[in-house]
Amino acid sequence: MARLVMKFGGTSVANLDRIRNVAAHVKREVDEGHEVAVVVSAMSGKTNELVAWCKDADTLHDMREYDAVVASGELVTAGLLAIALQKEGIAARSWQGWQIPILTDDAHGSARIMDIDGTALSEGFSKHKQVAVIAGFQGIHAESGRVTTLGRGGSDTSAVAIAAAIKADRCDIYTDVDGVYTTDPRIVPKARRLERVAFEEMLEMASLGAKVLQVRSVELAMVHKVKTFVRSSFDDPADPKPGTLICDEEDILEQQVVTGIAYSKDEAQITLRRVADKPGVAAAIFVPLADANINVDMIIQVVSDDAKTTDLTFTVPAAEYDRARTILEKAKNEIGFADLHGANGVVKVSAIGIGMRSHAGVAAKAFKALADKGINIRAITTSEIKFSVLIDAEYTELAVRTLHTLYGLDKP
Ligand code: ADP
Ligand code: ASP
Ligand code: MG
Repeated sequence: MARLVMKFGGTSVANLDRIRNVAAHVKREVDEGHEVAVVVSAMSGKTNELVAWCKDADTLHDMREYDAVVASGELVTAGLLAIALQKEGIAARSWQGWQIPILTDDAHGSARIMDIDGTALSEGFSKHKQVAVIAGFQGIHAESGRVTTLGRGGSDTSAVAIAAAIKADRCDIYTDVDGVYTTDPRIVPKARRLERVAFEEMLEMASLGAKVLQVRSVELAMVHKVKTFVRSSFDDPADPKPGTLICDEEDILEQQVVTGIAYSKDEAQITLRRVADKPGVAAAIFVPLADANINVDMIIQVVSDDAKTTDLTFTVPAAEYDRARTILEKAKNEIGFADLHGANGVVKVSAIGIGMRSHAGVAAKAFKALADKGINIRAITTSEIKFSVLIDAEYTELAVRTLHTLYGLDKP
């Protein structure tokens, strides 16, 4: 007998038929004699709808009430799946985040899990032989007693955190693709499914835009050594495939130089022209942005002709673009720049691979390949196991496909 966490995302619980299909996957594991905790997302599209309603009600809404609203999507699917399981003769009950409880901090809208008490869930297994159906994406801030949510895609994190808390033998993330691919299979049909991917690489892929797993779920899996698979809920419940295992890099036999290509459309570029070239200027620009919790990513500084001033280009999340502009315009006198240029239609394309640690010239090859396709690079960043280029959004697919082919990732 093993203890399992099975997580089902939005498309996998999109309607009652899909929920019945999820029940069949759960039944298979229960029939094998396993103890099962299921984590569910809201039906696909539901969270978007709830978020839009909050914005509609008031653009500057109270984030505590935002959480109260958006957490509701998962409550519905948890209850419905418990009913579907009971109909199959399986003992099951639903759990809302606060009932377990899943304790978080009070960063409403993107709260972090602080602690999960696994006692009640474990008792449900031992005393009641009951499947636990848990609403993902949510928790409670103990001190204020308010419901919180974990940020978009947060049910992945709920699942891995629960797996760690109840010491599950495995955490299966069921989704609408049958594993982690070399890049998003929806934009590159030649993408290949990976048997295994290293935690570090998955972490980079997720933070650089591969939405298949929320970044924090990968961090937790890595820290708590949770054996995590990404697999498909569209497989025949009687004959499922194992999917992709996220594992330590030592457990991967054949390591490629580049493992995957990711892209992120959530970027915006800001350029400050003719900034004084003197000590303290970078601080004058970036400290106010940091104080406003705006993440600055790529930074490029160019010395201009007169040697007294410089141009500074950097990127911020697209959602923070307007706020960043306002803050900089306000601080214009202290910073001292001639003018501010911004671009919203930019995309960051990244290549990720542990093999880059030991191979030189990996990024240089990409710059040439992109140039050959006439793609202009606006900014570049590199680190130990990845590099990223910022390009115009219209070239996204071409750039992703070009790099995918360049590094030999296309399926034969
Ligand atoms: P869920 O609702 O199950 O959480 P998501 O939509 O959050 O599903 O994540 C699955 C999607 O992630 C896939 O449909 C796919 O388009 C996208 N995706 C992006 N990059 C990758 C990748 N490298 N491998 C697999 N899927 C990816
Ligand atoms: N329903 C939430 C979202 O759409 C959480 C999740 O699906 O993981 O972001
Ligand atoms: Mg998701």
